[in-house]
Amino acid sequence: MYKVAVINGDGIGPEIVKEAIKILNKVAAKYNHNFEFKEVLMGGIAIDKTGSPLPEETLEVCKQSDAVLMGAIGGPKWDTTDSDKPRPEQGLLGIRKGLELYANLRPVKVFEALIDSSTLKKDIISGIDIIVVRELTGGIYFGARAREKDRAYDTCDYSRYEIERIVKLAFDLSLKRRRVVHSVDKANVLESSRLWREVAIEAAKDYTQVELVHQLVDNTAMQLIRNPKQFDVIVTENMFGDILSDEAAMLTGSLGMLPSASMGTGKVSLYEPCHGSAPDIAGEGIANPLATILSAALMLRYSFNLEKEALAVEKSVEQVLNKGYRTKDIMEEDKTLVSTEEMGTLVAENV
Ligand code: NAD
Repeated sequence: MYKVAVINGDGIGPEIVKEAIKILNKVAAKYNHNFEFKEVLMGGIAIDKTGSPLPEETLEVCKQSDAVLMGAIGGPKWDTTDSDKPRPEQGLLGIRKGLELYANLRPVKVFEALIDSSTLKKDIISGIDIIVVRELTGGIYFGARAREKDRAYDTCDYSRYEIERIVKLAFDLSLKRRRVVHSVDKANVLESSRLWREVAIEAAKDYTQVELVHQLVDNTAMQLIRNPKQFDVIVTENMFGDILSDEAAMLTGSLGMLPSASMGTGKVSLYEPCHGSAPDIAGEGIANPLATILSAALMLRYSFNLEKEALAVEKSVEQVLNKGYRTKDIMEEDKTLVSTEEMGTLVAENV
């Protein structure tokens, strides 16, 4: 039995998570598995019900689970400039810290059926299959910072240990893929990048079957648009990863299609779509559930080692798109418009 903690969150969160669970239940029935789902509160809804964006019980249940499936959190209702008031995002930072999630993985794959919604030419993006691995708990977002009158600074701080564990994770991932790792840095300028490169070279000695390519971040930003097919696994530090993962994600064209996984030192990983809680369309039944469904597929693959089942879900999404079904955000002429719920049912039936 696999225990899954479920965070519906705010906005469209509950609607899209419901569809992902529908698909997991179908996988359970078809492949003879047992998933136990336990709903917990986080984000705005948790503030409303308990006063805290991440109640202690939520973190405890997540720690006792085998994986966490999340929708999205936040919304205008809880936006505040008062730093004494709780904010939904504190829940997200708290759970990353509590579960020690130091790696964020974003797979970028193009669905042929949606290829026209990319702003890039077909032949540039057709067939791309990239994973961006972003370090999530170190670097300039967490280093020392200060403001003195008209001066301010932020420090990019990395230890050997922090670099080694993320680089190794990238190498391990590449073993099940095309075995090319691009380690992205700014080693011509930054000392932290020179340490990054040094550690990557050392780590590579244990992965002789993997090709390690060093690339400067400005070049990577360009290469992602010029020739994205050269990439298999990209590993990089927190801020470069923040920017490059959004750039890479947009190669495919649509926010509603992008899954993500966050992994760490412990056994519990967290799976969520890349998009937010879309408060502008919440409750209308038109949200695209595919990013969350594809995140559930990543959970099958990475947390439960169920590769066949993960592929079945991914294939099913592809087939439903090939048959012409679309939610509103990816709707094109001559296609069939379906609701959030109908999209979930179609994917489940196809598994
Ligand atoms: P957003 O991703 O929620 O929405 C951006 C636009 O994309 C909106 O027009 C929205 O309707 C659309 N969209 C997003 N997901 C969609 C889907 N699945 N189907 C159809 N359309 C979709 O970003 P935002 O508007 O900047 O943020 C809204 C709230 O979400 C904010 O409170 C923000 O803090 C929060 N947020 C949360 C997370 C998270 O939970 N990890 C991530 C990003 C933003």
